[in-house]
Amino acid sequence: MKYHPMTDLLSDAATRAERYVAHIRDRRVFPAANDVAALAQFDEPLPAEPADPAEVLAQLDAFGSPATVASSGGRYFGFVTGGTVPAALAANWLAGAWDQNACLRVMSPIAARLEDVVLKWMIELLALPAGCGAGFVTGTTAANFTALASARSAVLARAGWNVEEDGLFGAPPIRVVVGDEVHASLLKALQLAGLGRSRVERVAVDDQGRMRADKLPPLDANTIVCIQAGNVNTGAFDPAEDICRRANEAGAWVHVDGAFGLWAAASPKYAHLLRGIANAHSWAIDCHKWLNVPYDSGIALVRDPAPMRRAMTTSAAYIPASDEREPFQHTPESSRRARGVELWAALKSLGRAGLCEIVERNCRQAKAFAEGMRAAGLTVLNDVVLNQVLVDFGGAEETNRVIAAVQADGTCWCGGTQWQGKTAMRISVSSWATTDDDVQRCIGAITRASTTRSSK
Ligand SMILES: *Cc1c(COP(=O)(O)O)cnc(C)c1O
Repeated sequence: MKYHPMTDLLSDAATRAERYVAHIRDRRVFPAANDVAALAQFDEPLPAEPADPAEVLAQLDAFGSPATVASSGGRYFGFVTGGTVPAALAANWLAGAWDQNACLRVMSPIAARLEDVVLKWMIELLALPAGCGAGFVTGTTAANFTALASARSAVLARAGWNVEEDGLFGAPPIRVVVGDEVHASLLKALQLAGLGRSRVERVAVDDQGRMRADKLPPLDANTIVCIQAGNVNTGAFDPAEDICRRANEAGAWVHVDGAFGLWAAASPKYAHLLRGIANAHSWAIDCHKWLNVPYDSGIALVRDPAPMRRAMTTSAAYIPASDEREPFQHTPESSRRARGVELWAALKSLGRAGLCEIVERNCRQAKAFAEGMRAAGLTVLNDVVLNQVLVDFGGAEETNRVIAAVQADGTCWCGGTQWQGKTAMRISVSSWATTDDDVQRCIGAITRASTTRSSK
């Protein structure tokens, strides 16, 4: 294959991508049924012969683009979903062309250097202790796993056990304490780390899902306490200051699942929610959420990098020894893409002020959603302390009907959940692209869906 046609192909890709981005606000948020059905176009046997790359791209755009969820367009409020800020998307394209392997410094000086820079900036932004270690992983599930593997290593090393060499069979027991509202991904991380999802000690939570510090069991040096900064339903924060103080007195490890909530640190108005968080021992954060970089991107941070390196490292004769921070010594993966490039671009282009503006705007918009719902006579189930809103439309059946109607309407997309025995619609405002007009338009679409009963 000739190399120079790459130029035309990349220009074509840029043109198509520009068109996609330019029209994302004009289209349905969830694709129309016929566009999803047209994905049958891709069901073909493995091609026996090569195809023209231009045709490959044309097929992808013609049938793939219409079947995407317009989650980067500003009116997507499902799960906790960010869009992508322009500098991060552009950097992602350039980094794609670079095709760097971020495993080792010698494989990509630029990938390693930007991880160093982003780590320094993140420590400053989140006000964490200097000298933290960090792994640049795919998201918070992987970050929780990476941090818990580090915690496991530290706790067992203190008990005289080398878990990396000898595994968990016969090891001194580790206690794991979680809140009743622990995120599913943290349980998955425990299951991957051999700590088990069911042998945890669960702590009661209050009406917002916050762990009750007064219900904590006695802690000791064999305990890992997993707290949450930002409940996925209510946005509420576990009382980190109290819990970290007790844990530190007992010599226990505290891990913070802060997938989206840790970004509150960017705003002086919301940073108080994180009081005491820097006294924990590890933290997991998602960058594809509130930092608004492309998928997939999260960071595991650990106060003491030594157990992280023990847990994640490997060695082989062909891997050069190094005195510098080697990216692969901090992640479950060896070869991986240079996702630090987008993090650098996002942080550089936004600065502290730009990130603060996104966080504060989204929180203000969540409050506007809550007010709009209440004005329509609907019930908001949570205290809107951050960017999450839970709406009850009058019982499970009616709430499920409205969620389905909103999703079918296509103006926006919201999902459902169960909150303390009640069925609710979740509205999560996490995108840089969401305007106040979007919010008003979506309040209109949701309240319309709640008042317009489908004819039976
Ligand atoms: C999103 C989220 C996760 C999981 O993150 P992924 O990036 O999907 O792996 C974990 N914890 C919380 C609180 C979350 O909001």
